[in-house]
Amino acid sequence: MSIKEVSLSSTIEVKIAWAETSYQEFKEHFLRNKVIRDGLKGLKDAILLSRREMGETGIARICTECEGREGGSCCGAGLENRYDGWLLLINLLLGQEFPDTRHDEKSCFFLRETGCLLYARHVICVNYLCKKITTRIDPQKISRLREKEGRELERLFFLHEEVKRVLRARFALEGELDR
Ligand code: SF4
Ligand code: SF4
Repeated sequence: MSIKEVSLSSTIEVKIAWAETSYQEFKEHFLRNKVIRDGLKGLKDAILLSRREMGETGIARICTECEGREGGSCCGAGLENRYDGWLLLINLLLGQEFPDTRHDEKSCFFLRETGCLLYARHVICVNYLCKKITTRIDPQKISRLREKEGRELERLFFLHEEVKRVLRARFALEGELDR
């Protein structure tokens, strides 16, 4: 089959459809590749460590209160457009499924009642801390969190490039690349 790459300016629905089709078609091809398998494991571990650190700093609790009681979520509609098809494909490879529709029209497509549904998140989502947080959390705790998030983003960058390289090589091999 022919799979054209999707551009960053495509809608989130188009990007999700592309990622799901690529996942269905090439899942086995990816999982046979040791660099990708190790990259996925390394990324998963790094995400778990930075999420745990976020819980320990108290940030997760502040954000849950903010979203639940103050309606102050920073995950507004449109932020999902920062995500490209490759990052969505990585989320599928990590075991994340996507919903068909947005939960709240004022919010990011990926925000659900329980919070962000993505495992692998864009750098702007990982790095963002609002003033409410930076004024309430000890800077040393924030710096420990930044360290863990730095590793998560480094691993994500590497995997993102590798997934792209492997799939583009496969498309080229099959004469399917049509850009
Ligand atoms: S980062 Fe700030 S604005 Fe966003 S949910 Fe947390 S506390 Fe609220
Ligand atoms: S953290 Fe998740 S829900 Fe929030 S803007 Fe980023 S992708 Fe959307």
